[in-house]
Amino acid sequence: MYDTSSDTDLPDTTSDTCDILPVTAVPDGTDIPVAQRQCPDFTDIIKYLETGSLPDSDVTARSVIFNSEQHAIIDDTLYRLHTPRQKRKDKVYPVIQQLCLPRIMIDDVTNAYHDNNTHIEFDKLYESIRSKYYWPRMFADLSEYVRSCLED
Ligand SMILES: [Zn+2]
Repeated sequence: MYDTSSDTDLPDTTSDTCDILPVTAVPDGTDIPVAQRQCPDFTDIIKYLETGSLPDSDVTARSVIFNSEQHAIIDDTLYRLHTPRQKRKDKVYPVIQQLCLPRIMIDDVTNAYHDNNTHIEFDKLYESIRSKYYWPRMFADLSEYVRSCLED
């Protein structure tokens, strides 16, 4: 049996003490808040979090509401709040604030982490990028990127 009772007495410190992870591999001069608002992956959720207004489609609106629970806007920048799976019951895992990466920046980040980093294998690439960034098709994009890289 998986016993989580030892965690229940710990104070919840994740809400106000988790630092924003440093942003790396993003080209100088890129205005991330502007790029996020121009990226179709994030426009609906940013609009909902900032103004409360939802897309006309019921299906899309429901998905925006559902996804918004895992997102926060901090200093005009959209982050996804991700809680890693609990691997060890005696360890407290912090919430990871993943920068929501606009499509125009995906190639730069993937390049920096893979091509400029000894062409690391998919598992390491995915873990490294996931610790700082999020985009909706991250898993599929990265596995395709590694599979099609000719320099491994
Ligand atoms: Zn490679």
